[in-house]
Amino acid sequence: MDLIILGSGTAYPDGDRGPSSYWVGEGETGLLVDCGSGICQKLARAGLDWKNLEAVCLTHAHPDHLGDLPALLFALRMPEVGRVKPLTVFHSPELTPYLDGLHGTYGDWLVPSGFEVRYQPVAAGQRAAVGRLTLESFAVAHHATSLGYRLQNGQGVSLAIPSDTGLCQSLVDHVQKVDCLVLECAATDDRPMSGHLTPTDVLYVLDHASPFTLLLTHLYPWTERAGVAQQVMAGARCPVLVARDGLAVEVRRGGVVVREENLLESGRGRPRGEGEEREGVVRSGEGGLFPSEELSLMHAMMDRELDRMDRADMDRRKYDFHREPNASGPGPTSRDEWGFERAVAGVPLWTEEDLVGLVPTRAQRKLLGRVSERAIQSEINLRGSIREDALARLEAVVPTWARTGVRLARIVTGKGKQSEAEPVVKLAVLNWITGPQGRRWVKEWAPVMAADGNFGSVVIELKR
Ligand SMILES: [Zn+2]
Repeated sequence: MDLIILGSGTAYPDGDRGPSSYWVGEGETGLLVDCGSGICQKLARAGLDWKNLEAVCLTHAHPDHLGDLPALLFALRMPEVGRVKPLTVFHSPELTPYLDGLHGTYGDWLVPSGFEVRYQPVAAGQRAAVGRLTLESFAVAHHATSLGYRLQNGQGVSLAIPSDTGLCQSLVDHVQKVDCLVLECAATDDRPMSGHLTPTDVLYVLDHASPFTLLLTHLYPWTERAGVAQQVMAGARCPVLVARDGLAVEVRRGGVVVREENLLESGRGRPRGEGEEREGVVRSGEGGLFPSEELSLMHAMMDRELDRMDRADMDRRKYDFHREPNASGPGPTSRDEWGFERAVAGVPLWTEEDLVGLVPTRAQRKLLGRVSERAIQSEINLRGSIREDALARLEAVVPTWARTGVRLARIVTGKGKQSEAEPVVKLAVLNWITGPQGRRWVKEWAPVMAADGNFGSVVIELKR
């Protein structure tokens, strides 16, 4: 499977990185994931068979991801193209009004001539055949219209492009053991942004999903300068490549082989014919080069190692939820029940004293009991955030969870022992979920008690 990075940047103008777009090819099948501005020229420059493009998979309605969709549709309808093959546009159902609006604005200029454009809304979790590839969409934590895509060929070689996303369980679940994961890192650990990943978030995904190769993308000039790629490379257990516009790789079982360093460089872009393949190399986390033959051996070893580590780690995580509250701990407090009854609108409900000797109510224990049967679908880690950032991320992600059908999610606050800031975040989270804003979305919540009687995360059940 071929992957060509056409846009590894963001909305911020950058001479080296254009807005988001990826070409995925398998035999005669070619498709685009996202359509950031500038791609019409890049398709031609890279020598890609854009006239026979099979599909466009849109990830969400931010302009840096689909700004050139009208330009592409306009180009494809030119008589000189002579297109007859239908073009499928995959998108979330929530993106339909945007596409309708686009057609309303441009009118006839976007109406295809001689071929058909088939808009195909896909819900998260749905699969579709795209030529020689199978596509599966999945929910990510970014925007109401967001979808991530996982693509697989007939030999089981897989590639995942979640596009913009915050850390969530759906992301971790759907990129499990992919041969190549194209993942964003648009934020730094110092300045986390809701709906985006920091290097720590990226490493969490790597640890819990074990992809074979990581291609780091969606880089702002300042995140790149801050060394996010180096930070990820230092902690990653799989090879990490930094995406660049024009980079062409072949995705294979167990990793990738670089085909062209920059297909957009003048004269390099041409359709690859038989016998034209170059022996490629893959860049490792340390910046070393591995001949492609060594790759499969390296990955086979890594796979075994990761399998072992993952199982142990997943078991630990799972059993955290099963742990009973400390039986010898303090009994129910004389204060009100822990539940939502406490939440009188507008009154700050939780103070630091409330956190001492907490015991979950019966309803909360019941919720924790159910969590052991129904997997946590998503997670946000607010540990180490400052209060304002934690609240901003919460306000963005909880409604997104509700909209994308997440029913059970976990909010990691930290136990409040690591730094002065932690109890502040923990209290802010409790006050938010039990306050008027949180109650719009949250049906029930429960602290996940550790053996020491403290808790560093809460589970929430969202309203339907
Ligand atoms: Zn976005």
